Amino acid sequence: MKKVALLGASGSIGKNAITVMKNHPDEFQVTCLSAHTKIDYLVRQALELRPQAVVITSETRNDERLKQLQREGIQVFYGDNGLTAAIAVCDFDILVNALVGAVGLLPTLSALERGKSVALANKETLVMAGELVTTAARQHQAKLIPIDSEHSAIFQCLVGEKIENVSRIILTGSGGPFLHRQANQFSAITVAEALNHPKWKMGPKITIDSATLMNKGLEIIEAYWLFGVPLAKIDLVIHPQSIIHSLVEFVDGSIKAQLGWPDMKVPIQYALTYPGRRSAPIRELDFAMLKELTFFYPDHNRFPNLRLAVAAIQQGGSAPAVLNATNEVAVRYFLANKIPFTAIPALIEKTLAQHRTIAHPDLPAILAADQWAREFVDEVVLAGKI
Ligand code: MG
Repeated sequence: MKKVALLGASGSIGKNAITVMKNHPDEFQVTCLSAHTKIDYLVRQALELRPQAVVITSETRNDERLKQLQREGIQVFYGDNGLTAAIAVCDFDILVNALVGAVGLLPTLSALERGKSVALANKETLVMAGELVTTAARQHQAKLIPIDSEHSAIFQCLVGEKIENVSRIILTGSGGPFLHRQANQFSAITVAEALNHPKWKMGPKITIDSATLMNKGLEIIEAYWLFGVPLAKIDLVIHPQSIIHSLVEFVDGSIKAQLGWPDMKVPIQYALTYPGRRSAPIRELDFAMLKELTFFYPDHNRFPNLRLAVAAIQQGGSAPAVLNATNEVAVRYFLANKIPFTAIPALIEKTLAQHRTIAHPDLPAILAADQWAREFVDEVVLAGKI
């Protein structure tokens, strides 16, 4: 029985993770669950899965439904601090971190410091603090296993390989809903259009990131830290059918790829069963049904976030944390109809230009850079300077 702590249980990845675990009731035991506001869902899952503890990160201390869990012997933690508190006391073998945004960093570090494996869907963890997180994993001999579909594909292609034999990591991306939109139409993009992703059903933050291609920018940074290859060896190719989830090219010219219908349950299950595999009720890939697989290079002019993400990781230090925080706040403003779509990269560019990068930041320096960026973006937007 593998004991699993699942943070972000009510989001798209979290729900898929619960389905995967319920498909294999003899393999997995859930010992911790968290949700932000979806108390009914959390309580229902907790009563069924019987974890040691649950965390609710929104402020709902006197909720009768949570008191019911306590009467059933389930510990209840509250707030963002509750995430790290639960990870510090719960009994688990692997943490599935399916939180959204910067809030995912501290629980990842806590789990790694306990020497526990982390199955990471929260790419912001690595974008903000890649050096700290990978160092903690190494020091405590804890495994970091990607759930992000592209990184899971690369991770699977690398099984049995030496990293020095890799000549290129090729991330694929669907290109999002605005792949063929004219550059002069970008400022008129609406929230509803941006939320309508052609291939993947995901939460609002990552769906907007997919529309601006920041998701790919963050994934380049994620790949850089996860696989420890130089930036020059990481390529990005747009592949609208999302059948090839990513590829690895080796020094002898061989290329390995991982393929399948887009379904997040595949990388989630692989992360949970790694290094093994288990059967899964997955739609079979019928090659005769695939009319075409197409590929082309991304357009950095229409999608400046790609260039900004690469610039941030080249700058290094605290710059990616600033990129991430700025993007989070800018996406929130866009979703609230407060800024146009094109203001997202404009805000990121402006904020990065103002930031004084700290090399090899420790945790307080990262959190301070994150906080500074959030306040800076608020100021710019509230002053109408964008
Ligand atoms: Mg991805």
